[in-house]
Amino acid sequence: MKINTNFEFKPNRTMPEFQENSNNMIQFHKPYITIDEITEVLDSLRGGWITMGPKTIEFENKFKEYLGSKNAVSMNSCTACLHLALKAIGLREGDEVIVPTVTFTATAEVVTYFNARPVLVDVEEDTYNLNPKLIKGKITKKTKAIMPVHFAGQICDMDEICRIAKKHDLLVIEDAAHAMPAWYKNRKIGTIGDISCFSFYATKSLTTGEGGMATTENDDWAGKMRVSRLHGISKDAWKRYTGEGSWFYEVESAGYKYNMTDIQAAMGLAQLRKIEWMWERRKEIAGIYTEAFASRDDIEPPYVKADRESGWHLYVVKLNLKALSIGRNQFIEELRKRGIMTSVHFIPLHKHPYYITTFNYDRRDFKAADSVYERIISLPIYPGMSNEEVGRVIYSVEDVLQKFRA
Ligand SMILES: *Cc1c(COP(=O)(O)O)cnc(C)c1O
Repeated sequence: MKINTNFEFKPNRTMPEFQENSNNMIQFHKPYITIDEITEVLDSLRGGWITMGPKTIEFENKFKEYLGSKNAVSMNSCTACLHLALKAIGLREGDEVIVPTVTFTATAEVVTYFNARPVLVDVEEDTYNLNPKLIKGKITKKTKAIMPVHFAGQICDMDEICRIAKKHDLLVIEDAAHAMPAWYKNRKIGTIGDISCFSFYATKSLTTGEGGMATTENDDWAGKMRVSRLHGISKDAWKRYTGEGSWFYEVESAGYKYNMTDIQAAMGLAQLRKIEWMWERRKEIAGIYTEAFASRDDIEPPYVKADRESGWHLYVVKLNLKALSIGRNQFIEELRKRGIMTSVHFIPLHKHPYYITTFNYDRRDFKAADSVYERIISLPIYPGMSNEEVGRVIYSVEDVLQKFRA
């Protein structure tokens, strides 16, 4: 696997004091913020330019350079990127979009912004990713796009998904919120689908507090997203603030207020410089967990496909409920009692009241998602975790498994 050596980074492993864990809990997530982010943000504040400006442009340039994509359009969230990606490809009222049921609501929610229908599809039982075998049966004349979600950072079967899309004249909008960075067959995520959308939300593997980036090889779509993210104002309008441009601007369409700020971009620049190191550390932690759990019959480490490299945004184990006297929810409670905070990703969309009442899905369509959902737990995985903390998580999981053996 080719690693871009321009981005080699010597991490500052010393955490600022405010990040110290005051009680003895191991949190589910902590962003990896050091003096690097603080210095960049201060630089933005001292320079007096705080909204979209030079640092935002620099972040976009560095980001697309890192991924090797032609265009990168920053916004204030991944949700905004997904929305404007669908707008750029011309999604209309009454259209349909294929979405896996295992995702965060944002993926399907943006489809509803157009009065279009998110068509939920079941996942693979092993990876919990969109099952390509089930896509064809859900395609109708109204279908316009497929939105694969790279669950936990592991990449979907993109060859198969792109083949189906091409055959049926559909576009592929990737929800890459978990996939920064990740690889699929020697290609970095952000260069495969028609448009890829990344999240820089507080818990994501590169964070700007809130933020997102859409990458695409298509200049026309990139241009459309740029105009829409700032009030529909024609292309380089933001430059009028910097002294590069004039006072004149034109509104081409009704747009949105979705731009990133230089304060966010400053954080992003510092995070991007150490993205490879942060990724290595998450891979290391995933490796330690997997080694600890691999030989057990009461817990399954994440299933990993060989021809791709996960971003390891999440480490999701599956409990073997037959071997246990308690269910998943109680398991989480037992871990919490031992000072380990965990989470569940995700409650499948077809289980949420809004999606049930609005779209009338056939609930028998989601057997894999339903059965996996009952037994998943996301364990803490973030670069700032010490080996001692990783060890405590393993010890606590083993303790609960032992104590509640069926
Ligand atoms: C976090 C997340 C999003 C939304 O990202 P925001 O930047 O918070 O808008 C979308 N999809 C998935 C799968 C996510 O995990």
